[in-house]
Amino acid sequence: MSTSEIPVGSNFIRTIINEDLANGKHKQVITRFPPEPNGYLHIGHAKSICLNFGLATEYKGRCNLRFDDTNPTKEEDEYVEAIQEDVAWLGFDWGDKALFASDYFEQLYQWAIVLIKKGKAYVDSQSAEEMRTNRGTLTQAGTDSSYRDRSVEENLELFEKMKNGDFSDGSHILRAKIDMSSPNMNLRDPAMYRILHAHHHRTGDHWCIYPMYDFAHGQEDSIEGVTHSICTLEFEDHRPLYEWFLKELEIFAPQQIEFARLNLSYTVMSKRKLLQLVNEKHVSGWDDPRMPTVSGMRRRGYPAAAIRTFCERIGVGRSANWIDLSVLEDCVREQLNETAFRRQAVLNPLKLTITNYPEDKVELLDAANHPQQPEQGSRQLAFCNELYIDRDDFMEDPPPPKKYFRLGPDREVRLRNGYIIKCDEFIKDENGEVIELKCSADLDTLGKNPEGRKVKGIIHWVSARHAGKVEVRGYDRLFNQENPDKAENYLAALNPESLQVTEALAEPSLLEATAGETFQFERVGYFTVDSKDSIDGKPIFNRTVTLRDTWQR
Ligand code: ATP
Ligand code: MG
Repeated sequence: MSTSEIPVGSNFIRTIINEDLANGKHKQVITRFPPEPNGYLHIGHAKSICLNFGLATEYKGRCNLRFDDTNPTKEEDEYVEAIQEDVAWLGFDWGDKALFASDYFEQLYQWAIVLIKKGKAYVDSQSAEEMRTNRGTLTQAGTDSSYRDRSVEENLELFEKMKNGDFSDGSHILRAKIDMSSPNMNLRDPAMYRILHAHHHRTGDHWCIYPMYDFAHGQEDSIEGVTHSICTLEFEDHRPLYEWFLKELEIFAPQQIEFARLNLSYTVMSKRKLLQLVNEKHVSGWDDPRMPTVSGMRRRGYPAAAIRTFCERIGVGRSANWIDLSVLEDCVREQLNETAFRRQAVLNPLKLTITNYPEDKVELLDAANHPQQPEQGSRQLAFCNELYIDRDDFMEDPPPPKKYFRLGPDREVRLRNGYIIKCDEFIKDENGEVIELKCSADLDTLGKNPEGRKVKGIIHWVSARHAGKVEVRGYDRLFNQENPDKAENYLAALNPESLQVTEALAEPSLLEATAGETFQFERVGYFTVDSKDSIDGKPIFNRTVTLRDTWQR
């Protein structure tokens, strides 16, 4: 890449890359996204995905999708597949095939032997308890293990036996020989290999020792020629260790760059907690539309483009990154406002009869699919004398007309895509609840304004004789506290009203909607057809997001 082609940096990582390219340190940019397949991806991962794949695209380089599958007890193929589906859906491409840390197990094993032979690694046989005590504390140096000075031959022999399965889990461990009094705890002879008689999702029962993440990660990047190894800040203190391994092994050293992880209000992002929500059935699964997972957001109707916009908008920095959930929701609204077709549905129906409209007459009214995009065409809405409107659009005793534009006794509104009507009468049941409105229509107002008066309010409606019933799932924030992680028990911060199932009356075209289609129910919100529970002709609608932010204080 020539200097003139280098994109202009707008975050500190771009600045670093630009320098590296300008001074010839690298010719090509290679990044990677390295998930551990022990859960589904969430919005925090999306930030890392957009960053790594985004930089690779921008610099015409490459981004690997590499599964860091060094911990066999928690990893599963289900997660591997879900993660690939999510990354592809977000719009990114990892080339020929996904990579796996487990493909490097043999190489990592050989490298462990190199370090043993150099006298830089040893087999420790202390108990876990002894090891913990001898590690020291932040203010106190650690103590050398009595096994630290084992001979190279003894270490090689023991390590081989560890590999062959001669020892039980936890009885020995291979450690790097660095410095038990280092102020950086990560350098106090960290573990490299542990014994684990566990079945691995890809290597099966071939191994009974597994590399520790810290011994694997840097070398994996090195094998792949990753130029910029971008990770979150908690790995900053691990960097000297990664550099130590790479230097001792005399292999290519990628440059690690740390950034602040994304924290989102009203959300938990720890995979342990998300797994608990799933296992204890607080949600219907990893893809429950209330989950902060990529699959949950997809099912909820968040467009991939909105998530990408969000990740770009929140930026990349090195200080704690707390973002309000409303920022993400705004990105979703912005995107859907452009792309979603408009439809009419009534969530809380109130009957309305037009007294001056013939009972047996049905008229087809033209309704635009997207008012700002006439090229998107229109559909026809059947109109008759019996309609339903939303209960919220009528008040028996409304505020003055300047403040309230909806219906009230003797007030006028326009029916969306239809006539101007006036409420002449309302009928109550024995409990005093309004059950029907009787209105008259000004039949000279279709597509034009009435003479001599202004009618400001527009309300949506459906034809009582043509509308169909649909299930609507009103999803809201899963937690009702800004920082659920701060609560004594985050489960107590679950929002009991995060799901409200109702039945709505929808214009007929909505009954033919298919999975993944998203609409704006005019004046209500954005809704998508649920991809799991809908059946043909009986769509279930998930509320993606309300039209406006209802959580603002
Ligand atoms: P754990 O390692 O505890 O299982 P993790 O969230 O770090 O959880 P990984 O699968 O290791 O999960 O993450 C893959 C990549 O995604 C890592 O590079 C990590 O830094 C990045 N990542 C994870 N969470 C966030 C977040 N909240 N913001 C930005 N990046 C994140
Ligand atoms: Mg991790």
